[in-house]
Amino acid sequence: MGITSKFIKKRRDYMNIKRKNEEFRIKERNNEKVAKKRARLDYNKRKLENAVNLKNMRRRLKNNEIKEANRKAARLSMNRRLNDPAIKKANIEAAKVSMKKRLKNSAIKKANIEAAKVSMKKRLKNSAIKKANIEAAKVSMKKRLKNSAIKKANIEAAKVSMKKRLKNPAIKKANIEAAKVSMKKRLKNPVIKKANIEAAKISMKKKLEDPDTRKAYKKANSIRMLKRRASSNSSIGSSSRKRCYRVSSYRLHEKEKLNMKRQKWETLLSEYNLKKTQGLSETCVSCSRLRLPSSIIKTPKKLLRQLNMNIGQNDSESVLVCTSCYGHLKKLKIPPLYVGNGFQLNHVPQSVKELNQIERQMVSLRLPFMKVFKCLRGEGQLKIQGRRRSIENSRQRSKRTN
Ligand SMILES: [Zn+2]
Repeated sequence: MGITSKFIKKRRDYMNIKRKNEEFRIKERNNEKVAKKRARLDYNKRKLENAVNLKNMRRRLKNNEIKEANRKAARLSMNRRLNDPAIKKANIEAAKVSMKKRLKNSAIKKANIEAAKVSMKKRLKNSAIKKANIEAAKVSMKKRLKNSAIKKANIEAAKVSMKKRLKNPAIKKANIEAAKVSMKKRLKNPVIKKANIEAAKISMKKKLEDPDTRKAYKKANSIRMLKRRASSNSSIGSSSRKRCYRVSSYRLHEKEKLNMKRQKWETLLSEYNLKKTQGLSETCVSCSRLRLPSSIIKTPKKLLRQLNMNIGQNDSESVLVCTSCYGHLKKLKIPPLYVGNGFQLNHVPQSVKELNQIERQMVSLRLPFMKVFKCLRGEGQLKIQGRRRSIENSRQRSKRTN
């Protein structure tokens, strides 16, 4: 027989062990469930307790006295804890981390900046804080400006901000005035002055290398020069050389110039008219021609005597000589039109002088023929045109006609 009593016993033992294992597992599972349930219950309980506590706290905090006392207690406890540097450091770190987290929210960031501004304004009303602040800013700026990238960025930002501000004409004007004042102050230092002049020269040279700039500069310079001349010539400008020249002053000067020209012409014309009324009243000693008083020069007799020229009988030390003769006399030469050069007229007898025009014509040795015209200009002056003939007046023919 295959099934023995030994085999049955073995089988029974195995079944027993299996059942025991099963029981143990069930027991374990039940235990876990209970523990979990208990933990859940504990958590709920604590939550409820916390909620109740919070509620109580909120209720109590509505009472200002309690609130204040609470705050005081918190502060005291905080102060006590902050005496420990480790706690303090940890606190600061925690605050930084929390701040960083909160600053990721743009609304909080903005509010924070505004609050900081307001608080800064309040604090800057205290002059000591203000001064300390400025000093600190300077120091920090110096530190940061050692970094060339920051320096460059700073300069660019300053330029942009300056451009923006200069769009306001009031700021622009104030800026120019301030620059002038500062320049004046600095120019009192002769070293700075010299360096400034040298720098200006170099910059000018560089600029003038461009032909367009040179042209424009020349033009501007000529206008400036005209203005300056106007200021030194005219009675208006001479009082204040340093005054600011505008285009209007230039026009004024041009007008003045025109007026001056006109006045000069008028004086010349009036002088000429005066001379005309005086007529050819003076006689040149050298050439015996009649001249206007304006073209006669008083010359010392000494000069004419040197050249052995004939001078009329006169007590005065000087004689009148026309301008054309004077030019030769000045060079110690006898004038070509000097009457002594064979231009002397013969003596006219008294009997001939008494004759009238027709009688004179009849007795004259020669009869001149010429075309005589009245000048269109020059009021009553005459001129001859074409050939001139001089015909011998024979006495016999005249006798025959008689
Ligand atoms: Zn003369």
